Amino acid sequence: MQGISTTIGQHIATSHLSIFSTCHNLNCLTCLSSSKASFSAKPKRRCLTLHMAISLCTTLQLQFLTLNSSKSTLTSILTNPTTRYQFSTITMNLCTTKSEPVTTSSAASSSSMQYVPEQDSNEMERVSNQTFQRYTSNNTKRSGKGTSIVWFRNDLRVLDNEALYKAWISSQTLLPVYCIDPRLFSTTHYFGFPKTGALRAQFLLECLADLKKNLMKRGLNLLIQHGKPEDIIPSLAKAYGAHTVYAQKETCSEEINVENSVSRCLQQVVLPSEESAAASTTSNSHPKLQFVWGTTMYHRDDLPFDVTCLPDVYTQFRKTIEAKCVVRSCIKLPTSLGPAPPIEDWGRLPSMEQLGLCSQNVSKGMKFVGGETAGLNRIYEYFWKKDLLKVYKETRNGMLGPDYSTKFSPWLASGSLSPRLIHEEVKRYENERQANSSTYWVLFELIWRDYFRFLSVKYGNSIFHIGGPRNIQHNWSQDKKLFESWRDGCTGYPLIDANMKELSTTGFMSNRGRQIVCSFLVRDMGIDWRMGAEWFETCLLDYDPCSNYGNWTYGSGVGNDPREDRYFSIPKQAQTYDPEGEYVAYWLPQLRAISKDKRNFPGNLYIRQIVPLKFGTTSRHNKEDKSHGARRGNDRRSNRRQV
Ligand code: FAD
Repeated sequence: MQGISTTIGQHIATSHLSIFSTCHNLNCLTCLSSSKASFSAKPKRRCLTLHMAISLCTTLQLQFLTLNSSKSTLTSILTNPTTRYQFSTITMNLCTTKSEPVTTSSAASSSSMQYVPEQDSNEMERVSNQTFQRYTSNNTKRSGKGTSIVWFRNDLRVLDNEALYKAWISSQTLLPVYCIDPRLFSTTHYFGFPKTGALRAQFLLECLADLKKNLMKRGLNLLIQHGKPEDIIPSLAKAYGAHTVYAQKETCSEEINVENSVSRCLQQVVLPSEESAAASTTSNSHPKLQFVWGTTMYHRDDLPFDVTCLPDVYTQFRKTIEAKCVVRSCIKLPTSLGPAPPIEDWGRLPSMEQLGLCSQNVSKGMKFVGGETAGLNRIYEYFWKKDLLKVYKETRNGMLGPDYSTKFSPWLASGSLSPRLIHEEVKRYENERQANSSTYWVLFELIWRDYFRFLSVKYGNSIFHIGGPRNIQHNWSQDKKLFESWRDGCTGYPLIDANMKELSTTGFMSNRGRQIVCSFLVRDMGIDWRMGAEWFETCLLDYDPCSNYGNWTYGSGVGNDPREDRYFSIPKQAQTYDPEGEYVAYWLPQLRAISKDKRNFPGNLYIRQIVPLKFGTTSRHNKEDKSHGARRGNDRRSNRRQV
């Protein structure tokens, strides 16, 4: 066992790792008042963070230089010669593990942090136990022999996890494994941002801790290993004589490359004859790698067309599957999934520092709690406790606080929640409370999620390319100053700046916000959309390559559907979605002093606008386009719409 275990610390010394984050300290007056602040390598006295220089040399080895540890500013200097874009100065948040005081008062009226979900740990346990109970059956029988492995990936849950279920049913002993893959903590493809920011890393660790706890409740455990799956999984298969490895299928190239490597390395493992017999493969003495489809609400095998013939218009896709497919029922689990093989050391979760990251406290806005238990509680809170599902369609375009939308996305992206389970809960709500357009609309949005997943299969790597699936030629800029003002929330447009500060502070941004900041970056600034997409990749708790790059290609007019080409007018969006300036004043407290109608248009009372808008003023936009439904809810037909 020890031979297969490597420490992440060792990895960090040699990995392609960069640390890149914005200054999140809202007390930092310099950052708020000057768009140049984030370029400065000089420690700011008012900014309570620790300055640190990080230089990334040609071999991409990290060297940390702590300049001052008593005060609290981190500034990192990154020069990555292998990326096409060089970032000279990066400000990082303070390394700290202390929790801030917590309140659960309304986000709109307070600057404090809110947990999502807000239940305390006792209530969380109760709700999760009840849900597990509903999905447990005493009739499930195990028929397999020998040992199998379940290799957890982005399916960090026990409920409705087909890989786990199949691994259990096909064996007498089941070994659950998660590999902390150093590549997850390296850098993004083109621009060298951290691949996983601190907030998502923290969320992932919480997911893993919760998965371990839930597996232990069912007589199993989770083996946590540090290293590449292609090194770890075959060694484990060999050590435990596992006849089959079960895992959830992924669809994008980085993940597929890992799958191929694991598969190749498993071919090198020769099983003793009893294990081969357990795998019921007389001709094959290698462990099998079996993939299971589990990311979408509608199963890939149930689509009425080959995924390579997926319609290029969402409405066509949605109507066809709604007419011709049924969402499969969730899997019922046995009461016990044990036994696991006898293992002395089940491994440990790494600290943030071991991952090469600084812990980042969420000081205001929403703090999402990672793990299946929390995800199940968010369903309970949103649907049953607060009864918000019945008004979702009216509130879903909001921006402030936990209640305007489901907030399921971080748990869906990590696989802590199954979309089929959400579907069943919507149906249960419709039976027990009411069915209306809002209850349907959550499913409508989940179909968008499915659609982007299937598009990634149809279009492959082109969703990551500058021209997108249609290979559109466009002269994009990579202006560093403009990009950094967007990234740091210093553009001079409160609606943009507030959204970008929410993203870097919490790892979340509303769908409305994402559409607006995407449009601003690509349309008003003319910046290469991939820079925005990669920054989202770093920061988002719910980062998922298919939904992220799918939405970015749509937002920048290079998506598969030419009709998805929109310009979001900031004055119009502000007037419609933040008429009282509550949202911008929450994230930019200096605007609180300004009258409500001026908060989104503060003129000289706020920082200078870094670029003019492409299309003029508020009144002009009101005349030009009365529709503000955007893609959500309206399947649209025109080119380059202004919304
Ligand atoms: P709700 O409004 O409550 O919707 C319910 C669920 O439906 C969501 O949890 C999500 O799973 C799904 N959904 C809703 N809208 C979309 C959509 N447009 N595309 C795909 N799924 C959708 N979503 C991600 O999960 N990961 C991403 O990396 C991501 N990147 C995005 C980048 C851009 C530029 C844009 C415009 C959108 C992106 N989205 C992404 C989609 C969407 O913004 C989020 O899913 C949504 O804001 C999450 O909040 P919620 O769970 O409260 O959503």
